Amino acid sequence: MPVEYQRMRCGNCGRELKEAPGTPVPERQPCPECGSTVRRAEIGISSTITARSMLSFKARRAERGRPFAEGKVGDDLHRKSGRWFRLERIIDRARGCYREIVSDRRTGEVIHHIEEPLSKHIGHGAARRSTGESAMATSNFGIQPIRR
Ligand SMILES: [Zn+2]
Repeated sequence: MPVEYQRMRCGNCGRELKEAPGTPVPERQPCPECGSTVRRAEIGISSTITARSMLSFKARRAERGRPFAEGKVGDDLHRKSGRWFRLERIIDRARGCYREIVSDRRTGEVIHHIEEPLSKHIGHGAARRSTGESAMATSNFGIQPIRR
């Protein structure tokens, strides 16, 4: 965790002192306020919590039946590199197209982009199987799904 600031204070009266943290007692200047050589260090630490999310969806015209569109949009951990990517995968049966975009979450750099007729994907598994998970497992990019 990154240290945001370090501040030395007089341990007796609390006055802020311009003294390097860790200065040995004999080298300390007595506090100009009260003369004490007792010190108290204040350290501020910041940390970042990042939320990851993955949304799966299936769109159907009727309650039953094959979804005409399905996909996944969200964050995906690339196991090999340990990097987080943004994944967008849409199997659009209504329009007959398949789209998969993988980009670096931090830089926005597109790493992998496929946009092609769905018919090309028959045999890869993505078009045949109904879940995003199996589509992901057979992706050319080699992203493995996170199983929960
Ligand atoms: Zn003092």
